[in-house]
Amino acid sequence: MSDLSDFEVTNGEEEDIFLEKDEALIRQTKEETTKWFQSWYQTETSKNVGDISNEPDEDDSNSDGGILSIDNDDGSEGSPRHVRRKYPQWMPKADLKEIVELYIGQEFVDTRQFNDALQIFAIQNSFDYTYMRNEKTRITSICKRTCGWRIHASWSYKRDCFQIKSYIKEHNCGTHYYNKKASIKWAANRYLEIFRDEPNFRAIALKEMIRRDYNVDMTLSSCHRAKKMALGILTGKKAYKRGFLEACRPMICVDACFLKSEFVGQLHAAVARDVNDDIYPLAYDICECEDQHTWTWFLSCLLEDIGNPRVHTWSFMSNRQKGLLNAMEDLMPGLEHQLCLRHLHANFKRQGFKGKAYKDAFDGAARAANELQFKHYMSVIRGMSEDAFDYISKIDPRTWSSGEDHKRQENPPPLSTTQI
Ligand SMILES: [Zn+2]
Repeated sequence: MSDLSDFEVTNGEEEDIFLEKDEALIRQTKEETTKWFQSWYQTETSKNVGDISNEPDEDDSNSDGGILSIDNDDGSEGSPRHVRRKYPQWMPKADLKEIVELYIGQEFVDTRQFNDALQIFAIQNSFDYTYMRNEKTRITSICKRTCGWRIHASWSYKRDCFQIKSYIKEHNCGTHYYNKKASIKWAANRYLEIFRDEPNFRAIALKEMIRRDYNVDMTLSSCHRAKKMALGILTGKKAYKRGFLEACRPMICVDACFLKSEFVGQLHAAVARDVNDDIYPLAYDICECEDQHTWTWFLSCLLEDIGNPRVHTWSFMSNRQKGLLNAMEDLMPGLEHQLCLRHLHANFKRQGFKGKAYKDAFDGAARAANELQFKHYMSVIRGMSEDAFDYISKIDPRTWSSGEDHKRQENPPPLSTTQI
């Protein structure tokens, strides 16, 4: 019975999943399923139903047996062509509540789509399955309790899709209350609208709801994580974070300002810039004042969410307010930190160095393309006033001039923190 070769377990090198499995269990599973399949095969072949093995456009060396299979991985030529049969195509369901049906011949774009469909199907039918084969070109799954339910799908080179080739749909081992296929990600997406309507919906109520809807016993901590994930999806946090990580310049600007309404206090904000040089807001909070304590809290929340600035090689820009500098030194000691040019120039002006000539020389030094240019503009400032030169020389040029700092060259032109 050549078709039973389907039940052979592939060797461990090809099949990662089996490395972790107990060999005895696999043998037992194989024997039980084979036995069940043999008896089923005898009844079914006498009825000759559920067979698409004689499909004209599928080359099938097993077609003479009338077996419930269109499995054909060898690609040999088969029977003459007749009418090309249309198979149902799997449409990924936007709504996970929609009932999933699986059919022989059903087509999928790839293995991932098939696995998704299989997962939702198993949850909806309250059972868990395990893989006998899980390869790029073919997947065989059986009921975890080996009741005989089995599905096999493989890549159809002719139709250029992943297709269900054989399917034993009878399932008679009852409900599996512990179903690993009911994952946190699935629960978050399935019950998304509940959290949209009621963000405070409790995890314990979610647990009860899943049990009632699907006969699945999910742990409370998994429900908590599902709730967190759902709220994350709803606030767009995930997409937003990805946008920052993948499409923004590696610079984060932070600043604070006073709130001038009846609610006194200060607003802290952190922004990045996207590839169009537009502002990309990252985070904000409202605090009673701007000091080291409030900056530490704000920055630690921000870093917890976006990650380690050293790993991502971000640099920070600010007006170097004292509390902020201390907080940054505490959280990210020695990290590159740049000055806001507008603030620096305002301080420069406040020292009495006003007028267009000072501003042009200052801008020239700040935007210098190399050290030579930077020195040239510094000598221009020196020519105008020795005091101005002394004042500006005290500030580390790496924090404000692109001529001294390659990071600024990567991120031109410097953004003023007042734009935040
Ligand atoms: Zn079963």
